Amino acid sequence: MAQYNSYCAAISAGKFNAKHQDYHDHYYGFAETEDNALFGSLLMEINQAGLSWDTVLNKSESIKAAYANFDIDQVANFTPSDIERLLKNPGIIRMRKKIEAAIYNAQQIQLLQREYGSFYHWIDSQHPQKEEDWIKCFKKKFKFTGKEITKEFLMGIGYLKGAHVPECPLYDKVLKSQPKWLEA
Ligand SMILES: [Zn+2]
Repeated sequence: MAQYNSYCAAISAGKFNAKHQDYHDHYYGFAETEDNALFGSLLMEINQAGLSWDTVLNKSESIKAAYANFDIDQVANFTPSDIERLLKNPGIIRMRKKIEAAIYNAQQIQLLQREYGSFYHWIDSQHPQKEEDWIKCFKKKFKFTGKEITKEFLMGIGYLKGAHVPECPLYDKVLKSQPKWLEA
């Protein structure tokens, strides 16, 4: 993507497949309120670390299937034998630390659900705050949530600005969806 200034520009140039087009047009930068979907987005960003978004997005179906359709409760209950099963699955990103982070984060989300009613309500209760404070807050709660991962996750669900460039044909649609960063 180096020759393009943004994901949007690369999409417009037809650089990516239909999967990217669908993600870009319907998910990227739009609010998400459903907990398992939010967990899925976070998990996808964690899986991307050190790899290209292309690699991860193209494996998205097998990642989703391997992680119980991103069901927080099921992933929170994964056992050491589930970790071994995932490590043998060529359809996913086979990295023990990422798998362990998915399980730990699902358990942390369960705690937030108990305290705040939902993962979504917890995220919303933290808003608005500065980017560096979001990063600190995610580092404290979760594993494998460094600066880039946290930023990408929050941009993807509309809490931080920057998902679509103003030149993108989708930009107006994103604005109309009232992303949270507009309120910050
Ligand atoms: Zn765009």
